[in-house]
Amino acid sequence: MIYRSTRSQGQEVTTAQAIVQGLAPDGGLFVPKEFPAPFSAAALKEIFALPYQDMAKKILALFLTDYSAEQLAEIVKGAYGQQWDDDRIAPLTDKKAGNYYLELFHGPTLAFKDVALQCLPRLMKTALENSDEHRGIVILTATSGDTGTAAMRGFQSLAKTRVIVFYPYQGVAPIQLKQMLSENSDNTVAVAVEGNFDQAQTRVKQIFNDPDMNSLLADHDLTFSSANSMNVGRLLPQVVYYFAAYKQLLDHEAIAFGDPVNFSVPTGNFGDILAGHYAQKLGLPVGRLICASNKNNVLTDFFKTGKYDKKRDFYVTNSPSMDILVSSNLERLLFDLCQNPDTVKSLMERLNTKGEYQLPEDMQKKLSGFWADYATPEEIEGEIKRVYEESGYVIDPHTAVASLAAKRFKEEDDKPTVVLSTASPYKFPETVYHAISGQTVKEKGLPALKELTDLAGPAPKAMEAFLGHSSQEIVIPADNMANEVKRQLDLD
Ligand SMILES: *Cc1c(COP(=O)(O)O)cnc(C)c1O
Repeated sequence: MIYRSTRSQGQEVTTAQAIVQGLAPDGGLFVPKEFPAPFSAAALKEIFALPYQDMAKKILALFLTDYSAEQLAEIVKGAYGQQWDDDRIAPLTDKKAGNYYLELFHGPTLAFKDVALQCLPRLMKTALENSDEHRGIVILTATSGDTGTAAMRGFQSLAKTRVIVFYPYQGVAPIQLKQMLSENSDNTVAVAVEGNFDQAQTRVKQIFNDPDMNSLLADHDLTFSSANSMNVGRLLPQVVYYFAAYKQLLDHEAIAFGDPVNFSVPTGNFGDILAGHYAQKLGLPVGRLICASNKNNVLTDFFKTGKYDKKRDFYVTNSPSMDILVSSNLERLLFDLCQNPDTVKSLMERLNTKGEYQLPEDMQKKLSGFWADYATPEEIEGEIKRVYEESGYVIDPHTAVASLAAKRFKEEDDKPTVVLSTASPYKFPETVYHAISGQTVKEKGLPALKELTDLAGPAPKAMEAFLGHSSQEIVIPADNMANEVKRQLDLD
């Protein structure tokens, strides 16, 4: 399959190149040049009979036509194996407090980022083998918390790859920080940046596209790539679990084949929900996609008014992985709405220079498949408490954002709704404990985790991997990120 940039004509690459490069050289994102045709009803029925891994093979094969069937089988087997503590990979709960919860946190780092980041390194490795790229790969990634650990874990010890993760200093949760600092593979490092996620992500994009940095890397036989959801290889594996959710609703006899289902998605960089949009384009019967934001509610306003305006206060909230004002993957949706790279380019330029853009009316009309809402930190705690009291089920603060949006949308539309549950509540014990008990934990981090397990039962086993030694935090000013990359790679 050919991939193209969202921002100009002519920048066309193979799947393997799109995955290895991560970002298009013009700063755009890679999208399929021709989106695969939707599955027929018969094909959908076949897919819904399959276990997760086989479903993944079928769906990935549509987009990754330059991988052989054997290669895809090998990748999927490695990505969705024993490192998951549930063989359904993405198990769906029974109805709890009005909704079904799709638990995406059964992988090694207890967040939904594992679904993609157990797969991406394997896709990249095979892409390198299939192409004539012999250079080492430097993965630069900005993280709002969960991508960092999941990327470090996914790429750990993978030959010819180095991973440098930048996260906002004091902008991630204590357990997330502990997780990143406890990953101690030779080829991965996490660095704190004095600034917020958006600043780190913008700098990463700049470093990526900086000609001097790129030639310096080339001199050392290295090249950049990305493990952020800007990388299409990260997005595609996420399409699969929308199908897996639908399959499980059918298996539970909660719906009949063909019934539309709403999905409520806790959204930050717009990767997860975009995968839902792709699933819908492939023929999955999706009702509405509910875009749920926290107090950084730029997307809520965007879906209501067609105006994207990032000129607003940035809040550090109790759902840190969604503390984002520039949602990179929205660019892929914009491209989808207009199919015109010139339009996308000019909107992105306006965002860059003016901090805002207004969608043309014809594009705005096409947003009707989405519904949007947001939750404040207090509302998040209230929703954790409500779900716990009504059903005994413990959800994390990010999931709570989507859960609350789903509850509100139910007043308009009572279709069955799947809430994407993006992290284990044990990653955010301070907030969850406070929400449920009304008490503040005595000490953040591991002691808080202990208090939550005393209240709500044992944490998943995978948490044990993060309780050991952790390295010292490295903190740098945002202006020093490029130099830090050189330092980490011994390029000075
Ligand atoms: C990354 C993340 C999100 C946001 O997902 P996007 O794909 O960036 O929209 C939501 N919840 C959790 C727990 C996350 O780690």
